[in-house]
Amino acid sequence: MDTCDWCSLSEEDKRFQLYEGKSWSVFLADEQDYIGRCILVLKRHCSSLSDLKDDEWDELRNLVRKTEECLKAVLGATLCNWSCLMNSFYKEASPDPHLHIHVRPRYDKPIVINGNPYADSEFGHHYALNKSGIIPAADKNEVYRRLKERMNR
Ligand SMILES: [Zn+2]
Repeated sequence: MDTCDWCSLSEEDKRFQLYEGKSWSVFLADEQDYIGRCILVLKRHCSSLSDLKDDEWDELRNLVRKTEECLKAVLGATLCNWSCLMNSFYKEASPDPHLHIHVRPRYDKPIVINGNPYADSEFGHHYALNKSGIIPAADKNEVYRRLKERMNR
């Protein structure tokens, strides 16, 4: 039987877990091309939004609210870009996608973390696909610390 990476996350994979609910978990994304970028991951294996159960939709609705509230309050995000793409799974011969949703906070002015300014130079436009997502570890840890505290209040 094939194993799904998203169904068997290691403790290392969960290092940047921000929040765990009944059906969903929220992680700070490896890529921080937009500061505070997160991924919402369904805890059970499911391929599509259209296959969500009612209680999973309910939790997702609340989690979208919670996540946006945190990104705005803690990081000063102006708005959030939400996307459920799943495209990379379809590069495989037998695609078996695991539902997850990306959220990219967008900023109308630079956000400063540990004295380092990060500008959203595409603000008002589609998020960039070729922007570097690598930021200093100390800055990523600071973003994680701030969001985690607020998400678990
Ligand atoms: Zn899975």
